[in-house]
Amino acid sequence: MTNRIPVAEPTLSGNERKYVLDCLDTNWISSNGKYIGMFEKSFADFCGVKHAIACNNGTTSLHLALVALGLAPGDEVIIPTVTYIATANCVRYCHATPVLVDVEPGTLNIDPAAIEAAITPKTRGIIPVHLYGHPAKMDLIRSIAEKHKLFVLEDAAEAHGATHGGKRVGSLGTVASFSFFGNKIVTTGEGGMLTTDDDALADKMRLLRGQGMDPKRRYWFPVIGYNYRMTNIQAAIGLGQMEQIDEKLSKRRTIGTWYNNELAHLSEEIELPYEETGSRHSYWMYNIFLKTGSEQRRDMVMKIMDQAGIETRPVFYPMHVMPPYAETTQYPVADSWACRGINLPTHEGLTESCIKRIANHLNQAIRQTSGLDTNFTARAA
Ligand SMILES: *Cc1c(COP(=O)(O)O)cnc(C)c1O
Repeated sequence: MTNRIPVAEPTLSGNERKYVLDCLDTNWISSNGKYIGMFEKSFADFCGVKHAIACNNGTTSLHLALVALGLAPGDEVIIPTVTYIATANCVRYCHATPVLVDVEPGTLNIDPAAIEAAITPKTRGIIPVHLYGHPAKMDLIRSIAEKHKLFVLEDAAEAHGATHGGKRVGSLGTVASFSFFGNKIVTTGEGGMLTTDDDALADKMRLLRGQGMDPKRRYWFPVIGYNYRMTNIQAAIGLGQMEQIDEKLSKRRTIGTWYNNELAHLSEEIELPYEETGSRHSYWMYNIFLKTGSEQRRDMVMKIMDQAGIETRPVFYPMHVMPPYAETTQYPVADSWACRGINLPTHEGLTESCIKRIANHLNQAIRQTSGLDTNFTARAA
């Protein structure tokens, strides 16, 4: 009986345990305590920015950034239609409108040309998502934003350590948001982080994170804030994780290389991930896309893998097919690509023999489903 291979799994092999026990032994278990400042400092240094503000998860951090940026009811924010639901929801939490745009083939990152076309007088900002660890085209996005005086909130939840033009994500927009959920590259169980070089924005985000309490006058609340604080225990785990970030990223690169080697012979059948010039992928998830067939075929491939003890996941369903954001608009790239995409297991516990086993079963699943390889059926059909 072979072991099941999960799609993601945390690796807690450094000082995480020691630091958590220190929190318990010293009674510093809430959102005061030394690990929060230490984790924030190490994360800011890692991203190459002045400020990092820890939050209780990567959805509250997105929301906090939008509130601090002054997003108001009726405003519009441009987001890619292919993303995790939190990107769209955080805009709605502000009673603003997420304006969906199409993505680019291959990376499924936001298409800069589509952004330009979606700008209206109500547009306030753009949330590019570095999907699955590949940076969005930030040079182009920033110049569009500058031209139209828009903010850029990087949703870097999936891309810790990825770079674009030699700079790390988290330092490429007005502000960036990260997630430390259990399946992310760096984890604190649940957790989030905001990074920025803007002093005033950082102050505002810190204020709003702690119920809006005046930092100079305890229990005085000049504004309505939130409790979006991270605990010392979460930060203790995060600091332990950050001490090993280089090893984490290099192991993910190695896994990417192993997959590329093992899957090269399937290039007639599947698209493999690639890196755009000037970008460095952090491989949160290694994705493949079936070149032909429908969503049903993709789901069948995943089912066959599951029966062989290999967990996989479908690439995110586009926002425009989700009930709260449903539209009849066609997004040709998202519609044709997302339903053919599969996330393969990507985590630090994988060995080269695991990758060979996964590749072998993927090969078999592709052969077994070639009968379902009929014309591509568009989702809208
Ligand atoms: C994980 C994730 C988030 C935030 O998720 P939390 O689970 O709230 O930490 C936001 N955006 C994207 C794209 C994500 O993948």
